[in-house]
Amino acid sequence: MQQSSLLARFLAEQLGNGSFELVPCQGGKNNQCYQVKQVDKSYFLKCFFAGPSGKFPKLKAEYNFLNALQLQDNHQVAKPIAVDFNNGYLLTEFMVGRSITAEDINADSESRYVQQCINFILAINTNVHQSTHDKNQASLQQASDAITNLDDAYQIVEKRLSRAKNTIDRTDVITHECLDFITNVLAEKLAEINLLINEKNRFTPLNSDCISPSDFGFHNAMLITKEASSSSLTDELTFFDFEYAGHDSKYKLVADFFCQPRHPVDISYLTLFVQQPFFRTLIDEQTTFIVILALTQLKWNLILLNEFIPEIANRREFSGQSNNEILSVQLQRSKAYFSLHETKLNHAKQILCNASNLKADGMKYSCIVCHAEHVERVYQSKEEHCVASDCRPLGFNFAIYQCQACGHYQKNIDDAYQQNVEEVYASYQAYQLTKGKEQLNFSADVPSSRCQMILNHCQELLPKSGRMLDVGAGSGVMLAAMTALKGDWQLYAQDVSAHQADMLKKNYKLIDFYQGDLHYIEEQFDLITLVHVLEHVWQLDSLLSTLKSKLSSTGKIIFQVPNIDENEWDFAIYDHVSHFSKQTLAQLVLQYFPFVYWPKNQIDKELTVVASLTAFPSSENKSNETINSHKIFDPQKKCIEHFDNNVQHLLNIKQQAINSVAVLGTGPSASYAGCILGEKVSCWLDEDKHKIGQLFCGYPVKPLSAITKNEFIVLPYPAVQSRRIKERLSDYRFY
Ligand SMILES: [Zn+2]
Repeated sequence: MQQSSLLARFLAEQLGNGSFELVPCQGGKNNQCYQVKQVDKSYFLKCFFAGPSGKFPKLKAEYNFLNALQLQDNHQVAKPIAVDFNNGYLLTEFMVGRSITAEDINADSESRYVQQCINFILAINTNVHQSTHDKNQASLQQASDAITNLDDAYQIVEKRLSRAKNTIDRTDVITHECLDFITNVLAEKLAEINLLINEKNRFTPLNSDCISPSDFGFHNAMLITKEASSSSLTDELTFFDFEYAGHDSKYKLVADFFCQPRHPVDISYLTLFVQQPFFRTLIDEQTTFIVILALTQLKWNLILLNEFIPEIANRREFSGQSNNEILSVQLQRSKAYFSLHETKLNHAKQILCNASNLKADGMKYSCIVCHAEHVERVYQSKEEHCVASDCRPLGFNFAIYQCQACGHYQKNIDDAYQQNVEEVYASYQAYQLTKGKEQLNFSADVPSSRCQMILNHCQELLPKSGRMLDVGAGSGVMLAAMTALKGDWQLYAQDVSAHQADMLKKNYKLIDFYQGDLHYIEEQFDLITLVHVLEHVWQLDSLLSTLKSKLSSTGKIIFQVPNIDENEWDFAIYDHVSHFSKQTLAQLVLQYFPFVYWPKNQIDKELTVVASLTAFPSSENKSNETINSHKIFDPQKKCIEHFDNNVQHLLNIKQQAINSVAVLGTGPSASYAGCILGEKVSCWLDEDKHKIGQLFCGYPVKPLSAITKNEFIVLPYPAVQSRRIKERLSDYRFY
């Protein structure tokens, strides 16, 4: 039977005997499309071109996809009405709309159309009704040319390339030029990309399966005007052409969306995709996606040259589109398309890199000090114990991360951490044993004599007079030390809380007290001090650049932080987000200040560094050599090993058949040891007589003399210090 009579019979069966008119439409390249017009109704008819086997696999893919979406009640595609798998006919409802143009997309300042594309993908992949969804999943097959690993993606391009090389004859100037372009440019590029595919990853499953319309993009979309409400209209995208639809990789889906050349979509819209958890894998596996994006560009380069391949050119005649002049146009298009490859890839890399930095719910991706992206978790607490810097026991798990570029140890500032720390600060207790009234005072456990020591260590660098600002002033221990120092200083103080402002102003004759942000301070200072502040700061960049702008040209800044290298117990302090070593502190400070000075005398287990914009007069003032060495701090993770040993040691004590132990000290590490030992702790021991008799974490503080020489003492200190204590108190028994 003639094709036309088969078609007439198909339509008559579906539409009855009423008269109808066939109006050709511009359709896909693999078929002929018609509007079937009846008096009061229209349908859309697609006549498929038979495949080599005489069957219609594309019709099958399209029909199954439309059918699956119908079960989901999706209105962004046409409803299928009838199908003839033997002769390749598909009849669907007729959607009245218009093609979307590049102008429409450019004028869409709210990115509504790209968002509608994303929503469509999310909708067809959303598990609305589990049972229908499963049925849909089952009825859909692998998309044609679906990829499951990087090698699949490579082979798709390789096959197209070989076919082009083998079937295009060098018959004239234009075919010559085309083959040269394929062999010299495209094949070279493919070899280059192939080198990027790690042999180990080549066959690793991509694990990015989704239901994909395949060949998805604005070229297969139409704008349909719908009623948004009773009074307003809105344009909505409807999608068609699902000849390749089925299960496929998300990477390929997105890469095709941005690479199809008929309706180019700016790669900057990639940002909208990766905001969706559904596409999060593009951020997590950026390298994989970029390789697939590069291969997809090459694929489209070759598709643009399809007209040169005799087999495909024939097919085009079927849909009435063949034209010899097309060859020259297509070759120029392919060359122009190729020239944009690198720009698109670089832009995509940038977007993914930014997105991973912003990634809200997981690992923070860049180092708080050097911004390197490779930050690894190196410790995970086994039990829900840690302490606040005010010594309170806390019931949180905690993890320590180490930057693999500079070695800086840090916490991960994710949502849970931020929330927990904010709670800790909101209920921050004055250091119990000094009965301070202060809230949120990080330096509360720093007696003013310690601040005097710090100033003494730096004294030769300090001018005799000027303006001095103490950041994180707390109860004013540094201001007190400054007042005791000879000289003519005008004192200023800042703190996150204004709680102590009046007391500080009165006691230290402050010129001004600032609450919160340093940004708004207008003065410049000759001396700025931050005692035990930096290790709490989440936004080091912003703080340090602000400080730099508030420093006079010859001014000095003193930073005082705990030294993780000398005291690994600091890891257990939950609100200490940074755990500095001399190297990582230098790495940080030298990013903002060209000169740093390390006082010869340092307080035990702490670090003092002085920074300046001008050279120090003393001979030891050179920019520090630690920064030049660029060596990663603690590559062997000794600090972690020590900390882990400490915890293990305490857990061992807990298991021993012994009724009670005393813990020496009343600082954060003693509190942490108390958390782990629990009921085993009978009391705290302290040599400071002011603390004796008070309660610390619910247990009394006693003098050493109060315990029998038979009772064991736990020393929550770094090894060096523990050894010294044992030597000094050789009459006692220690664990
Ligand atoms: Zn780093």
